[in-house]
Amino acid sequence: MTMFYVGLMTLVVVVTTALMMLGYWISWRSQKLPDVFRGSGFSDGLRKKKSRLRTLIVTAHPDDECMFFSPLIQHLVQLDHKVFLLCLSSGDFYGMGTTRIIELLSSSRVLGIDATHVTVLNDKNLLDNASLDWEPAEVEKHIVKALRNTQADIIISFDGYGVSGHSNHRAIHRTLSKMLKAGHLHKGKAGSQVHAFMLESVAIYRKYCGFFDATVSMFLSPYTVISTPTGYITALRAMVQHWSQLVWFRMLYVAFSRYMMVNTLVPLDATEICNT
Ligand SMILES: [Zn+2]
Repeated sequence: MTMFYVGLMTLVVVVTTALMMLGYWISWRSQKLPDVFRGSGFSDGLRKKKSRLRTLIVTAHPDDECMFFSPLIQHLVQLDHKVFLLCLSSGDFYGMGTTRIIELLSSSRVLGIDATHVTVLNDKNLLDNASLDWEPAEVEKHIVKALRNTQADIIISFDGYGVSGHSNHRAIHRTLSKMLKAGHLHKGKAGSQVHAFMLESVAIYRKYCGFFDATVSMFLSPYTVISTPTGYITALRAMVQHWSQLVWFRMLYVAFSRYMMVNTLVPLDATEICNT
């Protein structure tokens, strides 16, 4: 009788794992980004289809690019986008800003971003501190400059919750919402409008489901990017560059977080309430 139950349990585990793997594979095959990521929908659309798209990712701290955006960054590199990264602080909360800037450059290189496309700020008005509310005007100043310098076609950052609820993440979203509403999201003074997207935050019970969340994301989100196992290993290699941050709870995070394997995007909505 015992052998029967062991056999039954083994069968259940094997079938469940096979179904999960099948779901992951189908989700990966179904992943999709908005058409603008392939050069459609621009006022100068024909030209855009012939030239490389430029995408600016705005983060708050070194390691955000890896812990939250790595599937998306790798996918954009595969789509031949010129990917730029603006990190608004050096992550100096524990006085390790210089080390963390070096780590960020290494991590970005692993993910496929050229070091010359990475900008890290060290602005006393934008300190790495969850209890500080960054002023939208200060954040906007740097985003405007980055848009002018990179001539980005697309900008991507956090949504209103900012994945972890960190106030610095949320401040970027608040700023971008205000900029969009005010018509300030464009490339320089006379430049064309920039398409803006947010990285979607998911509920806590999905956050730590790792690749299991791929199938759920495929059904719930129209715009999903899913890493291959190789992409996940690349994300882990990028995270290792942030060696100063590799404490036990962050190791657990990279082992179980769906953001290391799955990203879902939402267009930034100008009608969204900005006081989140
Ligand atoms: Zn952060």
